[in-house]
Amino acid sequence: MDVRAKVFAEYQSVEELRELLDKFRGERLLHIGSGSNLLFTGDFNGVVLHSAMRRARCTNEDAEYVWIEADNGLVLDELIDQLCDMGISGLENLSYIPGEVGASAVQNVGAYGVEAKDVIDSVRALKISDGTERIFTNAECKYGYRDSIFKNDLRGLYVITHVTYKLNKHFEPKLDYGNLRSEVDEHPTPMAVREAVIQIRKQKLPEVSELGSAGSFFKNPIVPHEVYNNIAARYDRVPHFEQDGGIKIPAAWLIEQCGWKGKSLGGARCYEKQPLVLVNAGNATPDDIINLAAAICADVKEQFNITINPEVNYI
Ligand SMILES: Cc1cc2nc3c(=O)[nH]c(=O)nc-3n(C[C@H](O)[C@H](O)[C@H](O)COP(=O)(O)OP(=O)(O)OC[C@H]3O[C@@H](n4cnc5c(N)ncnc54)[C@H](O)[C@@H]3O)c2cc1C
Repeated sequence: MDVRAKVFAEYQSVEELRELLDKFRGERLLHIGSGSNLLFTGDFNGVVLHSAMRRARCTNEDAEYVWIEADNGLVLDELIDQLCDMGISGLENLSYIPGEVGASAVQNVGAYGVEAKDVIDSVRALKISDGTERIFTNAECKYGYRDSIFKNDLRGLYVITHVTYKLNKHFEPKLDYGNLRSEVDEHPTPMAVREAVIQIRKQKLPEVSELGSAGSFFKNPIVPHEVYNNIAARYDRVPHFEQDGGIKIPAAWLIEQCGWKGKSLGGARCYEKQPLVLVNAGNATPDDIINLAAAICADVKEQFNITINPEVNYI
């Protein structure tokens, strides 16, 4: 999106972050990572903060586990590459998800049957209002599907500065999701799983460097059994997954049934290989994306009586 912020400020240390928070007190603040889950709906009349802290260190170890603390600004995929290279497992299924460590703990990113919450031990954060530090245990982060306390009760109140992962030294590959198992040997290494995940993702998802997108635009809805039964009576082979509290139906399937796959509205397009992704086909304005998302939502509501909600953060 061709949008501007009043100020963009980057810091190299927690002390510098404290100084910036003091300096810009009273301004509208937005801390970003790579911006891969954001939709700027227009210019941002405030201060955009970004971390240039990009290291990781081992803070503890026992016979079974290793604790790795990573800085918020480290690219998550770089961390995963380094860990797989050392044979340390737990994050490999999250390979190639765009974005940085700090945001991954806000978003509880997930892919191929693994979520960040499965391996996050704790999160260190600074309170924006007074610069005090607090450590959140995994339970205190209140993780859910692409959700955490940082998106709800504490939205905009803390900057996550570090994330500590508790990773297993003994590799137990998680291969049950999709076609992952068929892409690796019987006894794969963490790096082999990482490479398989990357290969699969490259076939389905647009490269961020080539085609602007925010990844999956909508969350997959979880519907009551009667809503699912109603749809299953009308359509052949409805993909679905039993969940606590109902049945999850892939939003991509609902969108495809509504005929949106590959279609454009203004400069925005519903991606032809994965209809859950909305892309900037070249010259999209924020309104193009907003209008396309709204039109898709309205059609899904009309055809299935299901409300799909955006995963993307509208700013
Ligand atoms: C092609 C593509 C594929 C994707 N695939 C997946 C996928 O498979 N699974 C998945 O879960 N997601 C996926 N995503 C979404 C995205 O990668 C994740 O949401 C990621 O965590 C965003 O990271 P980011 O650094 O870009 O965060 P941003 O988009 O910059 O920020 C996301 C949110 O976190 C907040 N935030 C950022 N840093 C901090 C901090 N340090 N402290 C407090 N708040 C902060 C921001 O204010 C914002 O609300 C995909 C996106 C794209 C473009």
